[in-house]
Amino acid sequence: MITIALSKGRIFEETLPLLAAAGIVPSEAPESSRKLIIGTNRDDVRLIIVRATDVPTYVQYGAADLGVAGKDVLLEHGGAGVYQPLDLEIAKCSLMVAVQQGFDYLGAVQQGARLRVATKYTDCAREHFAGKGVHIDLIKLYGSMELAPLVGLADCIVDLVSTGGTLKANNLVAVEHVRDISSRLIVNQAALKLKHDQLQPIIDTFAATVAARH
Ligand code: ATP
Ligand code: MG
Repeated sequence: MITIALSKGRIFEETLPLLAAAGIVPSEAPESSRKLIIGTNRDDVRLIIVRATDVPTYVQYGAADLGVAGKDVLLEHGGAGVYQPLDLEIAKCSLMVAVQQGFDYLGAVQQGARLRVATKYTDCAREHFAGKGVHIDLIKLYGSMELAPLVGLADCIVDLVSTGGTLKANNLVAVEHVRDISSRLIVNQAALKLKHDQLQPIIDTFAATVAARH
């Protein structure tokens, strides 16, 4: 049996065509079903539906052989025990620094001000500001980062941005690009050896499908 860990929403939707190319069709949609284990047309392949941040953990411990996870999630997880053989180029966005409209971010940085930074991505944020020589106080949040500057919890946030619509709706502006983000295929290292004959064709088909999009 091959187990593939996915999260609901954009990652599931954008992985569907890759699965289809490998001849794998889920028997249910996770949005309409409450099942956490979803069968497929192939007796030897099943999907498990977990939180996006939990995908690397299931793959690391071998509870899933394959998974799809955002680079943001992989950077914070650290990537122990998982291979990242393939950038799937799906769920693309950017990790950005954003501030409330009118906050003079460049001025604050130039004056050497200490910044309060709210984010879910504490490792990425710490590394980014250390690289710039900016001193920060980090405030760990688990969601709705956009709120933090509006109520005085933080001077800026580090968050994922795609269209910028959520920032705009909350009177925030992106002021600095931290890094580009996309989702990767991840593989349990032991499974790649033990189930090589089953896994490698799926990995190869995903790679060919991504390459054919260029
Ligand atoms: P939830 O939104 O349910 O709290 P989550 O934020 O962990 O959970 P998603 O919003 O589905 O889950 O995000 C999953 C992955 O998709 C992220 O890890 C990231 O790589 C990518 N992603 C997040 N936001 C965007 C976005 N606005 N545009 C494109 N990709 C995104
Ligand atoms: Mg989200």
